[in-house]
Order: sequence, then C-alpha cells, then structure tokens
Amino acid sequence: RAKRRGGNCYVFYDTAMHDDALSKIQTTLQLQTALEREEMELYYQPIINLRDGSIAGVEALLRWNHPTRGLLTPGTFICLAEETSSIVPIGSWAMRRSCQDIRRMREVLGRDLLLSVNISAKQLNEPSFLPTLIGLVDDWEGDPRFLQLEITESIFVNDADRVGDLLHTIRSRGVRIALDDFGTGYSSLGYLRNYPIDTLKIDQSFVRDMGSGSINSDIIRFIVDLAHGAGMKVVAEGIEAESQAEMLMEYGCRFAQGYFYSRPLPLPALLRRMEHEAPIPFFEEP
Ligand code: C2E
Ligand code: MG
Ligand code: MG
Ligand code: MG
Repeated sequence: RAKRRGGNCYVFYDTAMHDDALSKIQTTLQLQTALEREEMELYYQPIINLRDGSIAGVEALLRWNHPTRGLLTPGTFICLAEETSSIVPIGSWAMRRSCQDIRRMREVLGRDLLLSVNISAKQLNEPSFLPTLIGLVDDWEGDPRFLQLEITESIFVNDADRVGDLLHTIRSRGVRIALDDFGTGYSSLGYLRNYPIDTLKIDQSFVRDMGSGSINSDIIRFIVDLAHGAGMKVVAEGIEAESQAEMLMEYGCRFAQGYFYSRPLPLPALLRRMEHEAPIPFFEEP
C-alpha cells in the first residue's frame, strides 16, 4: 500500500509502476492536464449518525478518470501529485467543486449537510490557500460550519506555529477542522490543546482489529472519551461489519463511515440515496 506522506512515494512506484521513470514522467504530465481535461471527480462517502443510521454528512474523495487506466483512487496518484505540486490546483478544484456540490445538495435536500474535504500539507502551506478558501466560502454564501477541512497530524511537523495561526484564522471564519487518520501519525495530545480541532477521525486500522481484549478497543474508547470531554466529535473510519458499528456505539462513538454503510458515491447516486433521509445536523450532536 502506498505511503502518502512526502518522500515515501517510492513505495508506490516500486510495486505499482515498476519503478519506471518514464511512466512517472508520463503520469506527472497527465496530472498536469487532468483538470483542464475534466478528468477529476469527487465521490462522496456518507458519514453516518450511529444513533439512527441517518446520513449526517459526507466526505469528498478524489477520483481520477485516467485516459487509459480507468477510474483511479488517490492511493495511486496523490503522492505524485504532492511531490510535483499538482495537488495545489487539484486541491483548489476539489474545494471549489465541494462548495458547488454542497449548494446542489441543499437545493435537492432542502437542508445543509456537513461536507468534509481532505487537504494535504503541501496545499495548506501554499500562500494562496487561505485567500482561495475565504473566496470560496464568501462566494458560496452558505453556512461555513458545514464545510470541514480534513488535515493530518503530519502538517504540524514543519512549522507548527505558522500552521496553528492558519488553523485559527480558518476556524475564525467558521470552517471546521478535522484531524484525519488520528492515532497513526505523530500523535501528540498537545495538538488537541493548542489547535482548534472540531473532529477526530479514528483511523480504520483501529476499527479493523477491534474486539474484546484488543488494545485497539481501549484506544478507541480513550479517543472517544478524550474528544467528548474536550467538546470534539469523533468519526470512526472503515466500518465494514455491523459488529464493529455495535462496538463503536458501546464505546460512545456517534459517527462512522465505511463500506458497511456505503462506498463513496458519485453525487447523483448520493442524492438518490438521500431522498428519503432526514439527517440531524452534525454540529448539533454532542
Ligand atoms: P482518508 O481521508 O482517510 O479517506 C478514507 C479512505 O478510506 C477512502 O479511500 C475511502 O474510500 C476508504 N474507505 C472508506 N470506507 C472504507 C471501508 O469500510 N473499508 C476500507 N478498506 N476503506 C474504506 P480513498 O478514497 O481511496 O482515499 C484515500 C486517501 O486519499 C484519503 O484517505 C485521503 O487521505 C486522500 N484523499 C482523498 N481525496 C483527497 C483530496 O481531495 N485531496 C487530498 N489532498 N487528499 C485526498
Ligand atoms: Mg479523510
Ligand atoms: Mg482517514
Ligand atoms: Mg485513511
């Protein structure tokens, strides 16, 4: 499985691309034209309220309709996009498309839905990031609380002070911030104290091997208690079985995502699925 963080791209080239320098160059060039050729798409995976099974929000997940290789998931290209900085325009596009799609969801559903977008460190470190975000939020004219940015702990590694200021500015505009893949990175509880984090997303590796006697269950319980004590929400990732959902509820976790509920869907399929739903707004939940 490809490592997504900077400098670890070779893992992916060795296995999937046979360390082929030529195909790396080719993919780099294809990434640069992917936006103008309208090959990028956002899929949406429902975030489920475990209490009643309703859809409380969605996470936007990038897909690349590659000219020859078909529909690609981010594991096959995000790393290269970060290395070559293509992630900057692609990430801006994803934020813009997300804001358009939130509006579309509101038109169809008659209410707002939380929309969570992944942001890579490379994107966040770009000086244009904040003005772009603010511009989008202003143009969108929706309630900014329904937009959530998913960042990983890796963004704090380089310039934590600067990133902290940036996050505070973003948060002061109402946009929410989630720590993705929580527990897998350089987890420091100091982050939770110093930065305006609204949501912790428990990485799917903890959910996968849950169960009695498993340290993962203890870790999940700990994260849930910690988060709720500090007024944060918790979303568990990668739920593939009902038994996992039941355990998570027992641990007090309120929100979950996973194939058990739904795979990531194109917008029209998501809207069809949601026609008969009456979700409880995410931010009103404890
Ligand atoms: P992530 O943000 O942690 O997203 C969760 C990943 O888990 C998604 O993979 C999702 O499809 C997958 N998943 C959801 N439920 C299950 C399940 O029950 N079982 C299993 N095995 N997997 C499940 P995906 O879509 O391939 O995305 C991979 C990663 O790529 C994301 O991880 C995120 O870090 C990154 N990514 C996705 N979209 C974007 C984007 O627009 N911008 C940036 N910078 N990164 C993105
Ligand atoms: Mg995410
Ligand atoms: Mg995650
Ligand atoms: Mg993940």
